[in-house]
Amino acid sequence: MINNNFCWMATWMVTDRCNLRCAYCDPNIMRRANEPEVINRFEALDRIAAYRPKILNISGGEPSLVKELSGILARAKAVWNPFIRVVHNGTAPQKLAESFPYIDRLVISVDGPGEVNAATRGISGDVVLDGIAALMDSADFRSELIINTVVTERNIDTLKRLAAQIASISPRIELGLAPVMPPDGELSVIRAPGGYDRFLKAFAEMKSAHGAVTHDFDCLLRHKNFRKIQCYNQYFSVHFSPRGELFTCGASLGSQLRRTDGVYGKIFKKGGIKKALTILTRAINGFVGRVDFTCRNICSCESWFDMLLLGSDTEYAPTGLRGFRGRLTNDDYAELDTFVKKHINANFDAERFKSIVEGRPR
Ligand code: SF4
Ligand code: SF4
Repeated sequence: MINNNFCWMATWMVTDRCNLRCAYCDPNIMRRANEPEVINRFEALDRIAAYRPKILNISGGEPSLVKELSGILARAKAVWNPFIRVVHNGTAPQKLAESFPYIDRLVISVDGPGEVNAATRGISGDVVLDGIAALMDSADFRSELIINTVVTERNIDTLKRLAAQIASISPRIELGLAPVMPPDGELSVIRAPGGYDRFLKAFAEMKSAHGAVTHDFDCLLRHKNFRKIQCYNQYFSVHFSPRGELFTCGASLGSQLRRTDGVYGKIFKKGGIKKALTILTRAINGFVGRVDFTCRNICSCESWFDMLLLGSDTEYAPTGLRGFRGRLTNDDYAELDTFVKKHINANFDAERFKSIVEGRPR
């Protein structure tokens, strides 16, 4: 472990500029696509390389706005060969063409067909799907492609149509459904009693329209209370700012303060002080070596990993685990086994975990 974290999964917010303005994006963080940005990303990559994350998620902002993206991905592959996952907003997948040889998984966000995506993201879902169809026809594109859809009260009834459109493009495209955050907010389909059953019905309909569909709602529903949860993956994942500054969830406050003038106001809003104290407490605990899994700011990032540590199967696990295949050593498995048995689940079956990662039947 480095700095009290396994660092197996890293998310690099490679830029904070974006050419969209989605309804649920934080305008305090995102900057316009044409705003100047002077960053030496090769130096940033060198800082990230020190942690050797097995899975490197490239997010933003919008990564296709970074001119040197293919160069930094090529260097990452040459230096430590992580599984590289790039998240793209669908505005111009061909702009990533020079990066295709280094991308293991491209994730494109689409919240629904036509006008549904336009309403939340400002670009027609049909336009994005046309771009994806062109991509699938391109001989240069050989990566996995996942369409990521955030499910809300506004799009749940249109998802079967989206699945049918994707099926007509290619059976190779995987569709991943994620719950909107916060899970008890007004847009969430699981807020109301019976909401999960309603989602599962929509999911079954989607599966009949397009077989390759998965979701991670089951990870979220292991929590009875969304206000204070236990999050285990925070000890396996780290985040990097565009300049390669490291922060974990527990240590992110300083980074947020640096990046967001409005954060002081947010802290003093309802619930803000409690959240700030939780973050500070965790940072202090991390400093003195204690392990604190609590979180008051739930997200669904990597929550599939928690399920595996707890010994439960989940819809999304096979997709999530593919990135580790061939990248975990026997020492990694041994270290995982010791940590999980001591802090999370005394009955953890490391051999079972390993067999799923390596794709071997047991
Ligand atoms: S595409 Fe992503 S980064 Fe850009 S505005 Fe939308 S949510 Fe924010
Ligand atoms: S659930 Fe909380 S601690 Fe876990 S990754 Fe999300 S914000 Fe961080």
